[in-house]
Amino acid sequence: MRFSRLRLNGFKSFVDPTDLVIEDGLTGVVGPNGCGKSNLLEALRWVMGENRPTAMRGGGMEDVIFAGAATRPARNHAEVMLSIDNAERLAPAAFNDADTLEIGRRITRDLGSAYRLNGREVRARDVQMLFADASTGSQSPALVRQGQISELINAKPTARRRILEEAAGISGLYQRRHEAELKLRGAEANLSRVDDVVESQA
Ligand code: ATP
Repeated sequence: MRFSRLRLNGFKSFVDPTDLVIEDGLTGVVGPNGCGKSNLLEALRWVMGENRPTAMRGGGMEDVIFAGAATRPARNHAEVMLSIDNAERLAPAAFNDADTLEIGRRITRDLGSAYRLNGREVRARDVQMLFADASTGSQSPALVRQGQISELINAKPTARRRILEEAAGISGLYQRRHEAELKLRGAEANLSRVDDVVESQA
């Protein structure tokens, strides 16, 4: 899977619709301090399902919406669309039926986020799992924040292990195991309730 296009509208400093075509090979983003280079990386994380405002350098998720400037009013929503070239059909099976995957996330003030995958409304979890199964995602070690290298050097072994697990492509399995455990706990609680009812009627 290869990122081929990133579109932003109202996301942080990208108030006007912005369309970036990502060609084959290495892409560099250069510009003066404060021009929005990190905002681009955050847009990538965000559209892949990042749900921690702190990872977006904000206090709340709505901080990603253009907050207004001296000459422009604040926007009411922000949108990021990521296109993935899937011509080689490398996407996880559940999403592997199109040459291009278009993943979109939109946030509206007071309404929260909504996700779309090739025009179809999907859950945040679907998008997160798509990227986890493809061994990438909003928390991928391939996306390196400023200051993250020194954090990694000082990280505990368990945190470093997570990086190896992602490289091995098993991060999606952890999420599924966690969900299976939650279901199991729910089923156990239901069973014990049934036992109570049976006992009370005996
Ligand atoms: P540096 O090279 O210094 O790291 P950079 O090119 O990575 O800078 P960013 O940190 O991506 O720049 O962008 C910072 C700019 O984005 C600031 O001018 C900030 O005011 C603007 N910005 C961040 N969030 C919003 C928002 N919600 N609305 C409007 N502008 C925003």
